Amino acid sequence: MDSARSWFQKFQPRDRLRSSTRKKDSMGNSGREDPQPISAEEASNLTKQRVAAAKQYIENHYKEQMKNLQERRERRNLLEKKLADADVSEEDQNNLLKFLEKKETEYMRLQRHKMGADDFELLTMIGKGAFGEVRVCREKTTGSVYAMKKLKKSEMLRRGQVEHVKAERNLLAEVESNCIVKLYCSFQDDEYLYLIMEYLPGGDMMTLLMRKDTLTDDEARFYVAETVLAIESIHKHNYIHRDIKPDNLLLDRYGHLRLSDFGLCKPLDCSTIEEDFSVWRKHGWNFKK
Ligand code: ADP
Ligand code: MG
Repeated sequence: MDSARSWFQKFQPRDRLRSSTRKKDSMGNSGREDPQPISAEEASNLTKQRVAAAKQYIENHYKEQMKNLQERRERRNLLEKKLADADVSEEDQNNLLKFLEKKETEYMRLQRHKMGADDFELLTMIGKGAFGEVRVCREKTTGSVYAMKKLKKSEMLRRGQVEHVKAERNLLAEVESNCIVKLYCSFQDDEYLYLIMEYLPGGDMMTLLMRKDTLTDDEARFYVAETVLAIESIHKHNYIHRDIKPDNLLLDRYGHLRLSDFGLCKPLDCSTIEEDFSVWRKHGWNFKK
């Protein structure tokens, strides 16, 4: 969950910009520009936005806490039921319940831990793009292997890609599908944004095509079908990918395909699409939603 500070920061830069922009005078000396007063209406809108952000943060925080508590209770009830049905001594039952409690506490402690780049050991480089790189990495505490996509913030700002990277992170966090690459966590430091994803060892479709040159009909049908399922899974969440190509189709260890690289994806306002369709319908075209 975003921290309270990050929610509030969303609404800070405009204020700061107004009071701290430097400009050069006619002699070329730089000086502090006089803070421009903001109108009462603007100030009131800013306050409303801050209040809305705070409200949303608090609501999300408590909703998440309630959900976790509920899930915890359900896990305990399930274990108690299973133990009651099984032929287990009272002592063993108590031990198993204590073990569950211990695991739950460890899990909560892990959830509170803020992940950072230092938690991972960097291994081989597997991709290098305009904004950063993708590397295989190993989590130091668990030894689990992931793919780390590292994006340079200054480069994203320079090219006006901030909205795209937000959409990429949001889609990965929101859509849970076996057809798209899984995101484990995301974090940032002063210079980079990091996405820690499952590592897909089967390589990408581009490499497969270069190696095989031509796929058999069955293989082509299989990969096209899995690509369609993957695209459908993100359309269901109202996102469009806008960069479907062989090097963004990755293969897992079993040879199943997963869609990746959501750096150009866009959340879609479906109400507008419906309006667009209505124009076509006037001309006798029919579309199923
Ligand atoms: P870019 O925006 O630079 O194209 P991508 O997310 O497509 O970034 O990653 C670049 C390349 O890195 C991919 O074509 C793929 O070969 C490799 N790659 C990316 N994510 C993974 C992953 N989760 N597992 C394995 N390889 C990956
Ligand atoms: Mg790519």
